[in-house]
Formats: sequence, structure tokens, C-alpha cells
Amino acid sequence: MPREQFDVIVVGAGSGGGVLAPRLTDDPSRRVLLLEAGPDFPDELELQPGFYSGGHQFQHQYVGDHDWGYSSEPLPPENGSRTIRLPRGRLVGGSSMANAQMFVRAAPFDFDRWQAAGATKWTWDTVRPCYEAVEREVHAKRYARSGWQPLQLAYEEALLGLDYVQRDDMNAADCWNGVVGATPINRVNEVRQGTLVTTIRKARHRENLTIRPDTLVDRVLLEGGRAVGVRTIGPDGQARDAHADRVVLCAGAYGTPAILMRSGIGPAAHLRSLGIDPVADLPVGVRLLDHAVCYWYVENHALADMRGPSTALIARHRDNDWMSVVTTLDETQGLCGLAFATTGDNVGGPFLLRSSDPTAPPIINHRYDVEQLRSAEQAVHEVLSTDAFRGSRFVDAGRSFEEIVAERVGTCYHPVGTAPIGAVVDNDLRVHGIDGLMVADASVFPTQISNNTNLTCYMIGEVAARKLGAAPRLY
Ligand SMILES: Cc1cc2nc3c(=O)[nH]c(=O)nc-3n(C[C@H](O)[C@H](O)[C@H](O)COP(=O)(O)OP(=O)(O)OC[C@H]3O[C@@H](n4cnc5c(N)ncnc54)[C@H](O)[C@@H]3O)c2cc1C
Repeated sequence: MPREQFDVIVVGAGSGGGVLAPRLTDDPSRRVLLLEAGPDFPDELELQPGFYSGGHQFQHQYVGDHDWGYSSEPLPPENGSRTIRLPRGRLVGGSSMANAQMFVRAAPFDFDRWQAAGATKWTWDTVRPCYEAVEREVHAKRYARSGWQPLQLAYEEALLGLDYVQRDDMNAADCWNGVVGATPINRVNEVRQGTLVTTIRKARHRENLTIRPDTLVDRVLLEGGRAVGVRTIGPDGQARDAHADRVVLCAGAYGTPAILMRSGIGPAAHLRSLGIDPVADLPVGVRLLDHAVCYWYVENHALADMRGPSTALIARHRDNDWMSVVTTLDETQGLCGLAFATTGDNVGGPFLLRSSDPTAPPIINHRYDVEQLRSAEQAVHEVLSTDAFRGSRFVDAGRSFEEIVAERVGTCYHPVGTAPIGAVVDNDLRVHGIDGLMVADASVFPTQISNNTNLTCYMIGEVAARKLGAAPRLY
């Protein structure tokens, strides 16, 4: 077979890669190969029901047939020693086609923390235009109050009574502390606006973009300290190599560190223990960050009503390190959930390979800092004391905070930071010590952000495109 040569290979067609590859092909002279382990759905008429995710997206969000099927190692005792599911989209569109569609920016102060952690070029002034560029391409909407669940209306009323401030734009730069408002949601005509149906759809007809689904990337091909391509396993199980001047890994916070490690880039002792020759001894996967989420349960038959989207409303309290949504869990039982997600780092890890076999699931260690949730439980009590929640029964009454979090704390689906800017990649997203190899996805977060992660991964795809020479689009 003749050697396949591209200018850029992008590995992973999710949030980061699904923005990056289309942007790179704005230049018709640049040949791009976009590789994806999962299937492609080029025709919208074939979209599966799970992608139509209006109403109650928490029920649809897993898009089960297209999930990697990962689970954590047992959590630490204070997190209940449980094993939890860790959903990740495995299809063209990646997790952007499997998520809950809260389309929210990080906070300006998050990038102060990034700079302190070594991402010195990632200032708010440099990232903001890239958020704006993505927001011009991928539309978000806010549900009008008339479409909210009674529970959400009551929650807003309760918080306003507790001196929270109502805000129209929860993506505004000063919208972080003691605020409540409609969630920006990337959904149009009740279809998730993941990269499959937005950025990738617009570019897929281009002759200089080759999308190759059902293709698992085993490792990066390295020659003399330079990335020259990737080794893939196709749907027929056959290994095949593709070559390029540059390789960008966008396989997500679990996929990217696995590919790096199989390529010999990672903690040398761990790689040797698996029979992989170390090429670059870098702290890949040493830290694994996430947000913790925990629900408190309330029974109120008047408020429990599943009409309307379950994430129409969001509240944030920076001083208390949480963000919060409320959702009806069971109409017949009158069961309502008050969900709080932490906004701090929640440092877990290590992320490790189980073996050098690219089809083996990795070893994923998460750890949730439950102390960050104490103020959330306090907020639950305050909300329940308001008139808006009169007549509610606190289902968790009599149970200790420790019992509740041990039973319920888990992933907010925001793993990041396994190949961070600073320790593993430089400010231009280039892997230290390896020419021609970059990372552009959730792996590069040097610290966690205070919000949901999807839009920031899109932003990173846009930043990477510009670093590779893509000109800002004129609109
Ligand atoms: C259930 C769920 C709900 C969520 N809800 C929200 C939300 O409401 N709002 C929000 O902002 N964020 C949400 N998130 C998080 C958000 O979707 C992710 O942070 C974001 O999509 C990550 O982008 P990424 O580019 O890093 O990875 P992904 O989008 O996961 O892309 C990685 C891609 O690489 C592919 N890949 C991996 N390994 C290989 C390999 N070896 N070879 C080839 N391809 C490979 C994967 O199949 C995937 O398509 C949610 C996530 C989930 C799973």
C-alpha cells in the first residue's frame, strides 16, 4: 500500500478535534486526516434518537451505543469506595454528542489560575476571542421561563429570596458569585449542537478533509524525536499507518494520555513495567482532575413535573465553590433532586495503562474532595426554609453529610488535566521534547475551570487551529 501523507493528522473527532480539523481545512491547500474510533453519521436523517435530546437530557445523555464503557477504580473510602461509570462519547462528535449541552464559558479568573500553573500565554484577553469565534458557529439558546419546570421556578424564587441576583446572561464575565439565571444550552430544534452536526457537518464536503471513522489510534509513530504519523487499527482489525508533518491528539482526557503512553511518552517507570520503551519521561496522567457532583433529595408533589428541560436554570456561588441545577427525578413519587457540583480541582489520578494493548480499558482513579460540598448541604437547608419550598419533605433528613456523599458523590463528567500545559505540553500545546506532536482537548487544562468543560474544549480547538496558522474567520 502506498504511504499515506497528510499535512496534519487530528486524532479524535470530539469537542477539541471537531473544531480543530474543520478550521484547519479552511485553507484548501492543507490536507487533514481526522481519525475517530467510533462511527460517523454523515446523514442527519440517520441521527439516532439519543441525539434528539430536548426535554430530559439527563435520560438521553449517555447515547449508550456510542460510549467507551469505562468505569473508575474503586473511589476512596470518603467517596464510598464505589466504582462509578465514566461515560465518554465514542463517535464522530465525541462527548459533544453525548453531553448535557450546558454551553458555558470558563470564568476570567480561571485563566489567572491557568497562568499561575504555567499556562502563561492563556490570558482572558487571548481566549475570549476564541470563545466568541466558536459561539458564532455553534448556537446556544436559553429556555424562556414559560418552559421551565415548576421546581426550577421555585428554586429561582427561593434563591432570589436568599439575596442571589438574577442574571440574563450566565456567560457574562462577572456572573459567578451568588447568581441565578437561564442556562445557555447548545441545542437547536431539540438537536444537540455537538461538533458532528455543526463544525464537522459544514466542512465534511471539503476535498482536503478526510474523515476516517471506526479507526482506533494505537500510537504515534516517532522517528528521531519527531512525530511522523500514527498507527491505527481499522474496522477489519488490520494495523495501518498514516503519515503527516504534524499530529494533534484530541482523544480526550482519557484517550489522549493512553495514546501518549503507548507511544512511549509518560512516566518512564510505568511504561517500562508494561514493556513500553520510554521516549520522553513526562508526567502524563499523574494528575486527573474532575468536578464532583452530589444530589440532595426532596419530596414535593406540587413541584415535581418533568415537562421542560432539566437544566434550564443554573445557580453559581463562587465563594462557596459550587454551581447548582435542580431537576425532577420522579413525578409519581414527587421526587426532586437538588444537584450541586464543585468548582474546585478535585485532584485524582494516576491515570494508568492496564497494558500496551490499545483495546484494553485504562486504569482510571478519580477522587472527590467532599469537603467542597459542605457548603452545598448548607445551601439545601437554606432553600428548604424558604416559602417557595414550603410543604417539601427533606428525604435526606436524619442522614449525615458523610453518609450522603459516600452514597452519591460522583463524576460531573468533566475529566481534564492528564497532559497539562506546563508539565506535558508547552503554551503552544506542543508536547515537550517531541517535534510535530500537539495536544488540543480537555487533557491540557492545567487546573480545573469553574464551570462545565465542553465550550472550553471547543475554544481550545480554535486556539490550536490559530497556533497552526488558521486565520480568524471573517463573518
Ligand atoms: C454524559 C456527559 C455529560 C456532559 N455534560 C456536559 C455539559 O452539559 N456541558 C459541558 O460543558 N460539558 C459536559 N460534558 C463534558 C464535555 O462534553 C467534555 O468535557 C468535552 O466533550 C471533552 O472534549 P474532548 O475534545 O476533550 O473529548 P471528546 O469530546 O470526548 O473527544 C474525544 C474523541 O476522541 C475519540 N478517541 C478517543 N480515543 C481514541 C483513539 N485511541 N483512537 C481514535 N479516536 C479516539 C473519542 O471517541 C472521541 O470522539 C459532559 C460529558 C459527558 C460524557
